[in-house]
Amino acid sequence: MSLSTDIKEYALSLGYDRVGFTTADSFPVLQRELNDRSDMYDWVGSWLLRNADPTNVLPEARSVIALVYDYFRHSYPEEMTGKVGRYYLSWGTGGPPHPIHRARNVLLIEFLQNQGCRVGWGLPSRPSAARTGVTNYGKNCFAFIEGIGSFVSIVALVIDKELEYDTPTYDVNCPEECTLCIDSCPTGALYEPLRMNPHLCVAFNSYSTPGSNIGQGQEVLPLELREGMGTWIFGCDVCQQVCPRNQAKLKAELPPNVFLEHIADDFQLEKILNITDEHYRRMYDLLAMNYINDKRYFRRNAAVALGNQGSQEAVPILNEAMQDPDELIRGHAAWALGRIGGNRTKKALESSLSRETSEYVIGEIKTALAMS
Ligand code: SF4
Ligand code: SF4
Repeated sequence: MSLSTDIKEYALSLGYDRVGFTTADSFPVLQRELNDRSDMYDWVGSWLLRNADPTNVLPEARSVIALVYDYFRHSYPEEMTGKVGRYYLSWGTGGPPHPIHRARNVLLIEFLQNQGCRVGWGLPSRPSAARTGVTNYGKNCFAFIEGIGSFVSIVALVIDKELEYDTPTYDVNCPEECTLCIDSCPTGALYEPLRMNPHLCVAFNSYSTPGSNIGQGQEVLPLELREGMGTWIFGCDVCQQVCPRNQAKLKAELPPNVFLEHIADDFQLEKILNITDEHYRRMYDLLAMNYINDKRYFRRNAAVALGNQGSQEAVPILNEAMQDPDELIRGHAAWALGRIGGNRTKKALESSLSRETSEYVIGEIKTALAMS
């Protein structure tokens, strides 16, 4: 058997849904996009541009391997839906306690090394998967597998051996007239087919924070994006949820994920607003590619989400948050109270204003009072 066949069979036996091979040529379309829209992609620094040429990852690069995994195999608990992106279902690409998906990647890399291959990783995943022919694009910028949809994770590796290459699929396989994803994007981040501005994206703003490993996002959530963030505290699935190409999967009767059902209760917004270290550790350990590295940003996002949920029942807990030692939490709780509105929130805001000393929070309270 050839090396290509060996790799494909081993990868499929590990549970990957698709495996494809392509040359180690650079990705000129991505390079051009990153250069042309450098104002939108300033947060990736130079690493993505650098990795768009596989020889920068592995000087002896000859072939790229794309491995795609359908992570949407279980139903998603109601408590998490609309709050955390379904990418959560691919938890554990990081370390313990749930390293199953990471183990798949590690086993494959070990297999390649045992075949005498040098291996590099960190290549742009969606362009790699398209060029290996295992996915095609949607206008929402996601990679799709026909019959599975876009809830897939991709690993792209580069090796120093020639393989038998697959046929690329650069197509956008969407119905020509469909613009549901663009029309539904709550902040206008997805502004035309295959063009998204991360700085306006709910997902990006939910987890790109100062000190995060996905850009140095803003500490204070931009006012103009807060309503659009809805109840999302980590990620956003809107442009995938509305997509006709994902409906079969979204409507399918999938078995429950027993573990997620077990921890689903942790995802109540009130609990996240007052998240404990233990609760944070459980979320942090399990969120795939967790970009937030300080629990105050989950709290910040939960305050905004409670405001957008709009229930008067959240007023007491937000009012309590107005006494939090962290001004970031007080500021976003004030906005949430203003968003909920009503006499009770107005009184709570006025009372907070009388004792507040932070200029930042005073500004937030005044904005909130103008809203309520
Ligand atoms: S993830 Fe959400 S905010 Fe970002 S482009 Fe999609 S719909 Fe828009
Ligand atoms: S919503 Fe429509 S246009 Fe957008 S990715 Fe899905 S099929 Fe394509």
